Amino acid sequence: MSYRILGAGPSGLAAAITLAKAGHAVDVYERRGDCGARFGGDLQGIENWSTSLDALEELRAAGIAVDFHCAPISHAIQTNGVRDSSLSFARPGLYLVKRGAAHDTLDQSLKRQALAAGARLHFRESIDPERADIVATGPRGRKIFAIDRGVVFDTDAPDCAVVLMDDRAAPKGYAYLLVSGGYGCLATMLFEDFPSIHERLAYTRRLLESRYGVTVRNPRPVGGVGHFTLRAEFKKGSALHVGEAAGLQDFLWGFGIRSAIRSGVGAAGCVLEGRDWQAHADAQFSSALRASVVNRFLFENLRHGRYAVLMTLFKLGGPHALLRAISRLNPLHRVLFPAARAYTRRRYPQIEI
Ligand SMILES: Cc1cc2nc3c(=O)[nH]c(=O)nc-3n(C[C@H](O)[C@H](O)[C@H](O)COP(=O)(O)OP(=O)(O)OC[C@H]3O[C@@H](n4cnc5c(N)ncnc54)[C@H](O)[C@@H]3O)c2cc1C
Repeated sequence: MSYRILGAGPSGLAAAITLAKAGHAVDVYERRGDCGARFGGDLQGIENWSTSLDALEELRAAGIAVDFHCAPISHAIQTNGVRDSSLSFARPGLYLVKRGAAHDTLDQSLKRQALAAGARLHFRESIDPERADIVATGPRGRKIFAIDRGVVFDTDAPDCAVVLMDDRAAPKGYAYLLVSGGYGCLATMLFEDFPSIHERLAYTRRLLESRYGVTVRNPRPVGGVGHFTLRAEFKKGSALHVGEAAGLQDFLWGFGIRSAIRSGVGAAGCVLEGRDWQAHADAQFSSALRASVVNRFLFENLRHGRYAVLMTLFKLGGPHALLRAISRLNPLHRVLFPAARAYTRRRYPQIEI
């Protein structure tokens, strides 16, 4: 059989690897000039809390090799800019990966693996989504809920992961400083007051650079926007939709890589085994989408107590247990969901919810 995939991000490439490894002819159409061109070398985190299975084991089990820059994060600092708390994870809480078109990025690794499996990649080409078997085109429409701006840089600072929760740096969001092997990323992610992003980034840089003694050399700008919808669509006509094209994104903090890859592998598996992707995807992802709406509602309404409440909860149960418990719809989520949805409709009228 031969299959056409639209979009060569993590979700499309994961689908391509799975189908090509099963011996099928695969053509991937990517409108940009290379894989990862949406990103500029950002350090991003693959979350490792939503399942008991380790995220890297999940990749390997799906036939995806971990041969990209990938740094496990077992310790992090959470700060409000005045007070620091140390977070320790029983197993890595995140895996830091690089995004972009450089050799050691997640994107280039997936590209190499897709090519090695026999997939054909067509850059600067597109086809009508209705002619694709799998649509993996990333964010849908213009439903922006957050914007992220920062810099990547060279540094001799030691490896670290710092999360800053301070509304002066990132209103209703968070800012972060990540250093791995002499490579750093410092950014802020805003959930409101988007025009102030440059001012907020300048404040974030001053605070994090001086507080953690980080020297930033050769800074290069990075950033992007986050999109969310609760109306995930896994199938349109005969095309299967995966990743952010299907509407998969975490409304609380914007962690979309793992669900993108998982959905690409899952949709390709359904194609190979003749299973119903819509039903499979609904069962696998819808609960997490709804949970993230309630999580954001709670996070935003903690207001100035956000940092303190999170620290207390992390200390009580350990960060892994808390993050795991909130990553799927639990009884508390179910009770709060109607209020969270009403709040989100008022606060984010641009989002389909
Ligand atoms: C600044 C920023 C920081 C982030 N940080 C994190 C993080 O730390 N952890 C995390 O888990 N997630 C993070 N995310 C989210 C994560 O990057 C995405 O969820 C993930 O890349 C989605 O993968 P995807 O394959 O669905 O879509 P994409 O990565 O967007 O890939 C889609 C591809 O399709 C191509 N395309 C689009 N339309 C067409 C078309 N018509 N024809 C052909 N090709 C097309 C695009 O060029 C692109 O290459 C971040 C996002 C941003 C913007």
